[in-house]
Amino acid sequence: MQTMTPHYLIIGNGAAGVSTAEAIRRRDSNGRITLISDEPYPMYSRPGIAYYLLGQVSEPQLMSRRPSFYQKNRLDLLHGKVAGLDLSAQAAYLESGQRLNYDVLMLATGARATPPPFPGSQLDGILTLDTLDNAKKIVQFGRKAKTAVVVGGGITAMELAEGLRHQGLKTHFLQRGSRLWPRLFDERESHIVEHQIRHEGIHLHYGEEIAEAVGKNGRVESVRLQSGKEIKCQIIGAAIGVKPNMDLVKDLPVEQNQGILVNEFMQSNIPTLFAAGDVAQAYDRWTKKPQLDILWPSAIQTGLAAGHNMVEVAHGRAPNLPYQKGSPFNAALLFGVHITVIGRIGAEAGRDSDEVEELSHLSRGSSQIWTAPFQSHVRSAWDNKGANSVRINLQDGIIVGALLMGNQHLADPLRQLIEQQVFISDADSLLTRHAHLPEAILTHWEKWRKAEQILETR
Ligand SMILES: Cc1cc2nc3c(=O)[nH]c(=O)nc-3n(C[C@H](O)[C@H](O)[C@H](O)COP(=O)(O)OP(=O)(O)OC[C@H]3O[C@@H](n4cnc5c(N)ncnc54)[C@H](O)[C@@H]3O)c2cc1C
Repeated sequence: MQTMTPHYLIIGNGAAGVSTAEAIRRRDSNGRITLISDEPYPMYSRPGIAYYLLGQVSEPQLMSRRPSFYQKNRLDLLHGKVAGLDLSAQAAYLESGQRLNYDVLMLATGARATPPPFPGSQLDGILTLDTLDNAKKIVQFGRKAKTAVVVGGGITAMELAEGLRHQGLKTHFLQRGSRLWPRLFDERESHIVEHQIRHEGIHLHYGEEIAEAVGKNGRVESVRLQSGKEIKCQIIGAAIGVKPNMDLVKDLPVEQNQGILVNEFMQSNIPTLFAAGDVAQAYDRWTKKPQLDILWPSAIQTGLAAGHNMVEVAHGRAPNLPYQKGSPFNAALLFGVHITVIGRIGAEAGRDSDEVEELSHLSRGSSQIWTAPFQSHVRSAWDNKGANSVRINLQDGIIVGALLMGNQHLADPLRQLIEQQVFISDADSLLTRHAHLPEAILTHWEKWRKAEQILETR
């Protein structure tokens, strides 16, 4: 395909869609670029909605791009829902009936909270934390409610519980198992966060699951638990997993699995169709298989690579910029505790990789990446001083993952050691009980940095 002024159509105005548009505009000053979003905002920070709920950021502060950004870069932003695609005619149809032809198409439709599976899940008052509108709904419902019940085993569930408590609600937090974020935290880390949760006045219940949401006049009135207990509440916050928005391709000959399968250029099996961000399932150099990656930095990086390659395809050339995935990284502030997760980290080193749960049971699908896959020879070392702790996972002399709580001074060194796969010759010394882990890590990092500097000056 070769058109003088190609039309690039981008469905999605999140981190992936906007970085795609930026990459295209950098390389093609003439092409027409259209972004479509079914949300009524310019690009905003999706991770930021958790902080919006806590009252720490306002709506204007969430906006990552102003309307002038779109004008300056000559990006047409359309607000509306795309209802269908015709791949052979290279056209997209909006719900309004409007037809948009394209030369190259980007699907950056993101992911949404998995709908709760229990009976009564259609009742008013069942809320999820995935879009700004839904965060506003939580605030609005919170004004009239007295009690909330939150269910979910991951980071979004914790953010939801913290946010509802912040609204002044009596908050119950249900955990199916016997510790928090079980796919990531070990017993000791769970205790550190648990202490903070109780300190905030949240009622934590282990070994409890919702059997049914009970309503009156279409609104939540209580939850019945599988143990038989009943809790009166007006809100149920559900964060039981995320699901890529695949509706547009589900009946099309587009290769798909949990997400849209793409090659290293973020191109699907249809040469004029690209995907990036939460909806794309790209090759993962860490797990060596196609993997979803529900993280903000990955959405930006996949979008940038895809945008570059879309310009190539629009001008009749082969895509040539592969996406290079960094090690998974996430930093969060939960109940006043700073938590950073880097690389491959699971609660139990040595767990069988086939144990990875269905995506729908995970919160912010990234947990899947962090916990998979472990060989039996992954070993862990842990060090703890009060609410500050560091845990590393080692495999064949290389640190493959780390989880930091509280003090964050090791975050950058560990990130570099993991990203660069630095070989640690006396790795066993990190595992001995007498070693002071933070100091040992810093010593290895300094050694590596010096070696790097010597190489650079040569
Ligand atoms: C509460 C919360 C906290 C998070 N915290 C973190 C964090 O701390 N760190 C981190 O790395 N990640 C975090 N994430 C994940 C991160 O936000 C996502 O990975 C990232 O936003 C994905 O970007 P995206 O562009 O792929 O998708 P999205 O941002 O979801 O954008 C999708 C876009 O597609 C549009 N769209 C979808 N379908 C249609 C359609 N049919 N027609 C028109 N438009 C459509 C939507 O309107 C939207 O504009 C968090 C997510 C949530 C919900």
